[in-house]
Amino acid sequence: MDYDAVVIGSGLGGLTAGALASHAGARVLVLERNAALGGAATTYHRGPLTVEASLHETTPPDAPGDPKRALFDTLGIGDSLELVPIPTFQEVRWRGLGTPFQLPHGFDRIEAALTARFPDDRQAIAAVLDQVRRTQRIAEFADHSLWWKLRHAGELPHDLWAGLKDIRASLSEVFARHFGDNEALKFALCGNLAYYADDPDTLWWMAFAMAQGGYMKAGGFYIKGGSQRLTDRLVGAIRDAGGTVLTRSPATGIDLDSQGAMTAVRYREAQTGAEVRAPTRTVFANAAPHVIKALLPAPARPAFWERFAGRAVSISLCSATLGLDRPPADLGVTSYSTILVPDWMDRFSDFRQGTALLGADPAGRMPVLCVVDYSQIDSGLAEDGLHPVNVVCADRLAHWQDLGDAAYHRRRGAWLAAIIERLDTEWPGFAGAVKASTLSTARTMHAHLNTPEGAVYGFAMEPPHSLPRHAPRTLDTAVPGLWIASAYTGFGGFTGAIGGGVAAARAALRAGLSGPGPL
Ligand SMILES: Cc1cc2nc3c(=O)[nH]c(=O)nc-3n(C[C@H](O)[C@H](O)[C@H](O)COP(=O)(O)OP(=O)(O)OC[C@H]3O[C@@H](n4cnc5c(N)ncnc54)[C@H](O)[C@@H]3O)c2cc1C
Repeated sequence: MDYDAVVIGSGLGGLTAGALASHAGARVLVLERNAALGGAATTYHRGPLTVEASLHETTPPDAPGDPKRALFDTLGIGDSLELVPIPTFQEVRWRGLGTPFQLPHGFDRIEAALTARFPDDRQAIAAVLDQVRRTQRIAEFADHSLWWKLRHAGELPHDLWAGLKDIRASLSEVFARHFGDNEALKFALCGNLAYYADDPDTLWWMAFAMAQGGYMKAGGFYIKGGSQRLTDRLVGAIRDAGGTVLTRSPATGIDLDSQGAMTAVRYREAQTGAEVRAPTRTVFANAAPHVIKALLPAPARPAFWERFAGRAVSISLCSATLGLDRPPADLGVTSYSTILVPDWMDRFSDFRQGTALLGADPAGRMPVLCVVDYSQIDSGLAEDGLHPVNVVCADRLAHWQDLGDAAYHRRRGAWLAAIIERLDTEWPGFAGAVKASTLSTARTMHAHLNTPEGAVYGFAMEPPHSLPRHAPRTLDTAVPGLWIASAYTGFGGFTGAIGGGVAAARAALRAGLSGPGPL
């Protein structure tokens, strides 16, 4: 059987590219090595516990420049997904802040809340928010109507300057310039750093302005029933269009002809274990480029790898899911998302020391924890009786990879207990309400996603060494017909991976894959 396109990996970027190509008339085969589809975007049951494997929140599809709108509209799946708005961005708790600080959504409300808490920093707060707002506006400019563009033309030079002036800066540099050593203000604005990185010194300011700025501007939502719902809709769109989606079928090789042109993808068939050849001219690479490199014939690897060489991968996450026998609100949890900054931290840049703690048994100190209480919204996750709470912190594969199985399980259990104990200190009675629990580490992420270092956001968003000449996006490769369609295309997260899939499908269709589809 010939395929117009083969997708290697069923993460959101791969399913997006596969679904859009299918919709445009291409015969698509999706290969997934796991038994479950969706990569990080899955929701599953473990005993009585519903586990959301990844989604806390993503930006609304209606925000200008958001690739989800193109995807939902083209496939007609938007109406079948219930998008539940997140009421407040996050609550940050730290001794340096005094009483817990509620960071709202919306630039004006954020400015009012920050100014009320830090009146002496009024001007610095306004300056930083203005820079984020203007950077956002440049990115979305192309998506607006002609009327909007004409009305905002006068602002364009200011927006461009706001975007350009710190184009090579780190988050630390911009925060230090405006906020000095007001560490509480830095935590108040970016206590959720772990969603991007664990070191503000090496996180690109532009990545913060684009990603955090997107939530600040437009808010966030959760997909009712879990991220699996989105995965299921995308898989359904591929199958409805006649495509094939296979689980337990890892890609084992990519064949090229003597001219270097794509001829087939080989994969291991689930039932027989036999290697099967799927002839194709187009491949959407959802698996990390590091995996794709190993699938290529040896002579093609150096040219393929040239544009990825030397790029660090993103942080991984340690993720605990706890099932409570009552809504956490009954125990005093007041927000959907709460950031617990430990007392031992004095500075925002202490963040990375927190990650390193997971490299040993817990000994009192905790990293910054992001706590998500799904029962604060109509998440559709508490239907089996237990109320799921997800707790994440930054993690690295190096903390776990050299441990033997027994030592690994012992340390993993110790960290799960330490996390529950920490929540019990914050909200007395919490530990007694936990009836089921599970912990995924960077080692779990590495095993499940097959990503280097267990990375969950693609490449690390580090400040560029020189002035970037184009958007930080890697779509096409040195192998004609091989497109990157994942978090590794540009930005990570749901929006980044979906954006990667949309861009890859568009590029492949423009390059002749099954004619011009209505994208
Ligand atoms: C705990 C956690 C919380 C998160 N929270 C959020 C959040 O709130 N908001 C947000 O926007 N993002 C969040 N993210 C990040 C987001 O989930 C990811 O960035 C995004 O889903 C990555 O999608 P992807 O398309 O790059 O593919 P991935 O999800 O990385 O999937 C890649 C797929 O390729 C498959 N594969 C690999 N090798 C092969 C092979 N040889 N053959 C076949 N298949 C192969 C893997 O099995 C996997 O299914 C979170 C992630 C985690 C882990």
